[in-house]
Amino acid sequence: MTQIEAPILKVAVNVPLSREFDYLPPADGSVAAPGCRVLVPFGRRQQLGVVMSHASCSDIPLNKIRPCASTLDDSPLLSADDLWLIRFASDYYHHPIGEVVAAALPALLRQARSLHPLLTRVAITDAGAATDSQALAVRAPRQAELLDLLHDAGGNGIETGSLAEQMPGWRRAAKALLEKGFVCRFEARADEPESGDHEPTQSAHVLNKHQQAALDTIRSSAGFGAFLLDGVTGSGKTEVYLQLAQEALDNEQQVLMLVPEIGLTPQLVGRLQARLGVQPAILHSNLTDSQRLQAWRAARAGAARLVVGTRSAVFTPLPDIGLIVIDEEHDHSFKQQEGLRYSARDLAIARAKHRDIPIVLGSATPTLEILQHCRTGTFRRVVLPERAGGAKPPVYRLVDLSREATVDGLSETLSRSIDEHLRSNGQVLIYLNRRGFAPTLICASCSQIAECQRCDCRMTVHAHERQLRCHHCGAVQPLDDKCSSCGSPVKPLGEGTQRLEEALLGRFPDYRVQRIDSDSTQKKGAIDAALAIAEQGDVDILVGTQMLSKGHHFPKLSLVGIVNADQGLFGSDFRSSERLAQSIVQVAGRAGRETRQGEVIIQTAFPENPFWQQLIEGGYGRVSEDALAEREETRWPPFTRLALIRSAAHRQRDAHAFLDIAKQKISSLETTYLRALGPVDAPMARKAGRYHAQLLLQSSDRKSLHAVLRTLRPALESEPAARKVRWSIDVDPIELF
Ligand code: ADP
Ligand code: ZN
Ligand code: ZN
Repeated sequence: MTQIEAPILKVAVNVPLSREFDYLPPADGSVAAPGCRVLVPFGRRQQLGVVMSHASCSDIPLNKIRPCASTLDDSPLLSADDLWLIRFASDYYHHPIGEVVAAALPALLRQARSLHPLLTRVAITDAGAATDSQALAVRAPRQAELLDLLHDAGGNGIETGSLAEQMPGWRRAAKALLEKGFVCRFEARADEPESGDHEPTQSAHVLNKHQQAALDTIRSSAGFGAFLLDGVTGSGKTEVYLQLAQEALDNEQQVLMLVPEIGLTPQLVGRLQARLGVQPAILHSNLTDSQRLQAWRAARAGAARLVVGTRSAVFTPLPDIGLIVIDEEHDHSFKQQEGLRYSARDLAIARAKHRDIPIVLGSATPTLEILQHCRTGTFRRVVLPERAGGAKPPVYRLVDLSREATVDGLSETLSRSIDEHLRSNGQVLIYLNRRGFAPTLICASCSQIAECQRCDCRMTVHAHERQLRCHHCGAVQPLDDKCSSCGSPVKPLGEGTQRLEEALLGRFPDYRVQRIDSDSTQKKGAIDAALAIAEQGDVDILVGTQMLSKGHHFPKLSLVGIVNADQGLFGSDFRSSERLAQSIVQVAGRAGRETRQGEVIIQTAFPENPFWQQLIEGGYGRVSEDALAEREETRWPPFTRLALIRSAAHRQRDAHAFLDIAKQKISSLETTYLRALGPVDAPMARKAGRYHAQLLLQSSDRKSLHAVLRTLRPALESEPAARKVRWSIDVDPIELF
């Protein structure tokens, strides 16, 4: 009899350790192929893990290796490609493999649920179908409404999760109908969803010559090709994506489209549906766990041909993937700032390369990283220089705040322009890069400033709620009219969106004002509703923050006023001018998208600053060229690579001591190409009661930097000083604090 050697399973377990763990297959004889989930004994508990690979040997003696408790999947949940991406992310970001697996899986699968869970459904019975719902509606309108819904759904009924969406508060009506025997409930295995494909309801535009040239260039790539679609706002980038997507779909391929968090609007989804005739699977952070699993399952099974999602959708299994599109490549929401600190954009590029397919990044304000890739030939740049449909670019005007006073943040020049645009039936957007009514509360008598007790920062005034809030740790205090230190009356300083809204209402009482920021839109769906009203033109003046600058199309908008542009002009981060230019160009791009030429008024106390001349005369292209030259000279990214090691502790010296050890370990390695800067206090040293410190690693050579991190990470994991701190490694950080 030949003895079959059992393979050794290399399992990723969700623990903060940079290694895989060895197990034997479970006693039940199942194989547990790579990509399957297994339950494994881990310490004294059981943990969920994913089999990454099979091996024939182990560093541990065979009799010490424990078998898995059970296999959870009959066939691999994750394909070889999915496992490749997970391993790549773990290697590149120097993050424990088990935590990367956890980040890549929907919550329900992480909790050992089945890929096809049993779901409760409600359906109409024969008795229910025979009932006259109109008669019922007289006494019990909600019951009648539910009965009609279920009638239309037929014998399969509706899953309870989706019922909750279609008819909030359905349970009471269902209870009454159950008692009458008009409906029944049952459990059913979640099936692969129907594709939902239909005939497109909108036909494609005839592309203009720039769009056509862009399309031809991108199309010409066989296999992997990375393209920057560098097109001003409104130049028709989305049209190009749509045509590329259409071709991929026609070739039976799947398409992955990543968009910024704020860019995933019903407007975009509607446009994709209408034009492509497919029902996209949508993946974003506001889904319920079961909605997320359903979308993930549809993508994995190939039923969803188009997947549209935010950052984490980059991990979605897509067996037939043929094209990746990243809209608004410059957006910061593509970078995760906690846990696995990954860039979805960069992972998507790696994924496209691995699968040998094209990837298209679009932006009106591309990052310097991608522009540099275009120079070196890693990327090809295709340009859409003008707005599609003939709209003209907006004209810029500066208001010199050193000469002109403001009332509630508005200069007379800006106020007069607002008045003109409103009178001629235009729409106005007032942009402020800050939340709250006024940033701070300061006492004019004793100069006491309201500060957060737990952070090194000031509290922000929220006048409507009569509160002071800390935007870093979330602390809340009641807003007092009197100074807590000397008792004199105090008043808010500076402008915020709420204060601007009130000022505009006072100054333009006959017009409709709508504020859109993360405070006014906390309720689910509130932002979509507010934006829909604004798009229809049922608002005259929009006031808001970044949220308004992303991809929205307001047909009537003719004037953009930027109230406090100077923040960022003197920022300490080497990216400040890039970011300032991006946010101004993006918000300016909302103006004059149709027939009427847009106007942009920028209030600044520093009109002589060369930044403004560059921006107004040369646009983002000039600003980015200059910034790139400066980065090359000062050796900042993209000309060097960075990694930031952060540490936080209750005591400042613990946070520093840990980083001192890290620095020692680095200097003991052979590191010719690496500089370690610090450790220093983080720009905001105290945050939510903890001290934050950081050590910045900089290298002109990516490989050397990664080689150091590869040795450093496991060494730090076993370092006793690590137990006193929370620490992390951030590769390619975009916030240096
Ligand atoms: P972007 O994604 O670059 O902001 P869009 O693709 O949203 O631009 O296009 C901006 C506007 O121009 C949309 O209203 C779109 O319908 C229109 N548009 C785009 N391409 C064309 C074209 N070739 N002909 C006419 N209109 C177009
Ligand atoms: Zn705080
Ligand atoms: Zn005081």
